[in-house]
Amino acid sequence: MLRLSLIMAIWTVDNLTEMRRSLLQWYAQQGRTLPWRNEPDIYRVWISEIMLQQTQVKTVIPYYERWLAQFPTVAALAAADLQTVLKLWEGLGYYARARNLHQAAQQVVGDFGGQFPEDVENILRLKGIGRTTAGGILSSARNLPLAILDGNVKRVLARLIALEVPPAKALDELWDVSEQLLDRDNSRDFNQALMDLGATLCTVKKPNCPHCPWQSYCAAYLKHRPTDFPRRAPKKQIPTKKLVAAIALNFDQQIFIQQRPQDGLLGGLWEFPNQEGDIQALLAYLFPGAQYERSLNTVFHAYTHFKIEIEPRIYRVDLTGAGWVEQKQLSHYPFSKAHLKIIEQLQEPQLNLSL
Ligand code: SF4
Repeated sequence: MLRLSLIMAIWTVDNLTEMRRSLLQWYAQQGRTLPWRNEPDIYRVWISEIMLQQTQVKTVIPYYERWLAQFPTVAALAAADLQTVLKLWEGLGYYARARNLHQAAQQVVGDFGGQFPEDVENILRLKGIGRTTAGGILSSARNLPLAILDGNVKRVLARLIALEVPPAKALDELWDVSEQLLDRDNSRDFNQALMDLGATLCTVKKPNCPHCPWQSYCAAYLKHRPTDFPRRAPKKQIPTKKLVAAIALNFDQQIFIQQRPQDGLLGGLWEFPNQEGDIQALLAYLFPGAQYERSLNTVFHAYTHFKIEIEPRIYRVDLTGAGWVEQKQLSHYPFSKAHLKIIEQLQEPQLNLSL
């Protein structure tokens, strides 16, 4: 295992100084212009950091702008109801992030008098904030000398030291490298530069090494095989769950939806009742006497650890009451991407759902 002592043996103090200088020079010329860059409002920086977890910048920007228009302050977010928060997050994925933002905003109001904490110890008490997010927020908004280690940074650093194990197995070593490299006098720009390097030059499939400011220090490049790093853990087979969703329509042209439990995958989102395998027991429980009408196109969606295939089946049902909504009201509720794909089919003009 590559330990810090060996890293220090590779990079002298002069090397480290030159690496910082060359990265910052590259950033001054090539860094991206982003809405949250040089933003002094710690609340806004926090929102951007959370949205950027596992999501690309171009996807995040419109969500970020809509979010701040609706929740301009941490107090506004804390006072919102969760359903409004989830609706605004709809389509961005990893919904625990939205629930955590909401809960953390309430912590800021309840535990910190509405002032976002500006020290590591307290910021780490907020729901959904770990070490790299804390470093990202406080270096960006307050220029505090804190290192970061997000997905892009792990890739850059693993290549830089030609790490021989997958990053997940060497997090301490990668944190050591990030700490060593950090320009403590200019952590804001240094961390932003490191993220830009990973996002624009040191990309997953085609690292642009000829234009990289760290080319002459990069062990993976010097071995002539940058894309061999980071090392990957053996691929696990991702299972596929086959589900049937009941799209129940009643004779008032209403449709039945239900809310998922607040905790767990897609917590708090709405969906059509669905089940893996045989749906008869679910139908008998929710919609006794349901009449099968037709099936819609199968919907496919991939999550991190499994895939789903949903067969949406339309049933006619002679019921009404709680959970039954007009079709045009569906847009008021936050749904997962897979169920949004079902709704898209329901809204196709050729699908005549009237009786
Ligand atoms: S030289 Fe290539 S592999 Fe190394 S950090 Fe730069 S872009 Fe990445």
